[in-house]
Amino acid sequence: MDTQTSSNPVSKFISVFRYSSVAIGIVWDTSAALTVVMAATTLVSGILPAAIASVGGLFVDAVASAFQETGASAQQLRSEALYYVFLEAGLVVLITAAQRINTVCQSILRVLLGNKINVMILEKALTLELAHFEDSEFYDKLVRARREASSRPLSLVIKTFDLFRDNILLVTIGIWLYQFSPYAVLLLGLAGVPAFLAEAKFSGEAFRIHRRRSAERRMQIYLEMVLTREDGVKEIKLLQLGKLFVQRYVDIFKNIYKEDKSLVLRRGFWGYVLGLLASAAFYFAYGWVGFAAIAGTITIGQMTMYIAQFRLGQNAVTSSLTAVNGMYEDNLYLSNLSEYLAHKVPEQTGSKTRGPDPADGIRFENVSFHYPGSENPALHNITLHIHSGESLAIVGENGSGKTTLIKLLTRLYVPTGGNIFLEGLELSAWDIDTLRQKIGVIFQDFSRYQLIVGENIGIGDVKNIHHDEYVAEAARKGMADVFVKDLPAAYKTQLGTWFKDGKELSGGQWQKIALSRAFMRSQADILILDEPTAAIDAKAEAEIFEHFRELTANKISIIISHRFSTVRRADYIIVLDQAEILERGTHKELLHLDGQYATLFKLQAKGYQ
Ligand code: ADP
Repeated sequence: MDTQTSSNPVSKFISVFRYSSVAIGIVWDTSAALTVVMAATTLVSGILPAAIASVGGLFVDAVASAFQETGASAQQLRSEALYYVFLEAGLVVLITAAQRINTVCQSILRVLLGNKINVMILEKALTLELAHFEDSEFYDKLVRARREASSRPLSLVIKTFDLFRDNILLVTIGIWLYQFSPYAVLLLGLAGVPAFLAEAKFSGEAFRIHRRRSAERRMQIYLEMVLTREDGVKEIKLLQLGKLFVQRYVDIFKNIYKEDKSLVLRRGFWGYVLGLLASAAFYFAYGWVGFAAIAGTITIGQMTMYIAQFRLGQNAVTSSLTAVNGMYEDNLYLSNLSEYLAHKVPEQTGSKTRGPDPADGIRFENVSFHYPGSENPALHNITLHIHSGESLAIVGENGSGKTTLIKLLTRLYVPTGGNIFLEGLELSAWDIDTLRQKIGVIFQDFSRYQLIVGENIGIGDVKNIHHDEYVAEAARKGMADVFVKDLPAAYKTQLGTWFKDGKELSGGQWQKIALSRAFMRSQADILILDEPTAAIDAKAEAEIFEHFRELTANKISIIISHRFSTVRRADYIIVLDQAEILERGTHKELLHLDGQYATLFKLQAKGYQ
């Protein structure tokens, strides 16, 4: 969606307000009371300056007349002048109060709004599917929405209100000035128009440049992240990538800067030239008012008032130009935020919490899957039956589709062909929460949470996260208890390096924590381990799987591993090759078949001899 689709300068100008209503809507939802107070104080700040100027004029007239008069009427004019002083002072007190209240409201709203929008973004993120996170364009929207969530919407609201205030001011001045001469109103009004149109044109251009450069900016963010995060630093240092990446960062900057600079220069030049036009009109009117006073058509007080109002008017024009200028950038943010929040996420189907035939286990019928935008299938015509209580091992080269199969089973993706059944019920008919509770899975790229040990394991079953005895039991099953006991604060030890006193673990230790997390899910009747033990030594892995078989005796267990010492223990083994099942059977049957499984098995066995 581009807010700048029209080339008509007037509609371009109007498009400034496209997202103002969205921003005001969000601010209103955050706090209606604060929004009303802000609008009211803005209104007061718009009306009062012209009134103050006219009181000033009346004061000058009273003083000037008092010069010429004597006696009682001079006395009366003196008190009149004094009255105007108090009146003006009173109005100034009022306007200062309004401005101050406005600033206070802004500060409070900024904090509330920042939080609200961040929560909106995060809650939306929870409803997204894995595929959304893998879609670079959509992910870009998410990142951009998060980056300026705390400042942009309020900024747009403030600028909208500022513009509103400036316009009220200009209208009130116009009304006053009309009494002097309608032509003066017309002249000053028209003189400001070119500057506004130019501002609209350049801001529109800035908007488009920004959108076009989005991918490059994202690359910059990525480089910043790689260069500054602890998990990237090792390779950056050893492969001496630092200079290359910083250079790439600078090159992108230079590219963007070139375009930005040209725009800023043109914007500055035209802003100045067209601003001069407005100033020329202003000084023309200035002289005009002076000559009118000399000619006696207006009083000195009126002249003072008009001059003060001209100045106010000019300031209002400048300030509206600044507001319009910034509003395009805020619009840019808001357009992105609205697109992100309005993105339609397919409803999670299914409400069933049990299947008709629990003993049926898991069934894949002619299941195929294509990743979005990819030509080759990641899985092709997979038919497979895992009975309740059975253990399945999946072997296959990298990229053969093993992890994809697990992603389909856990409904992170929906098959593009065929059906998957659990307990005789199609996967999409299951209530998604029930389904996820039934499955415990640890992926190869499991998360290393920067939390304490107890929580790192406990989050495997959030209900029982604070049940220490469950956590300890899970740690024992995952064989993490041995080293956890030696940590400085045992289960209360902070892990990772992000927080104070954080303890970093070895790769194998992290894997044991992740395994324990899987064991924490004691209610799950399907346990899946997707190569989470690669960094654990072979002896420990054998021990863990011995364990795993005991613990999952009446559950379905699925193991992906490259170690045949582990794989051979499974009741049933499938060999995946280029998205299809190449061989299937028990360890014995597969050896007997003397195919790929047998070859790989012998190769590995030889390595151990
Ligand atoms: P394995 O687990 O056997 O190593 P995967 O199931 O991860 O293999 O991948 C199977 C195929 O799907 C590979 O060709 C891989 O390139 C592709 N693939 C994996 N994940 C994605 C993804 N998120 N988007 C597009 N293609 C993917």
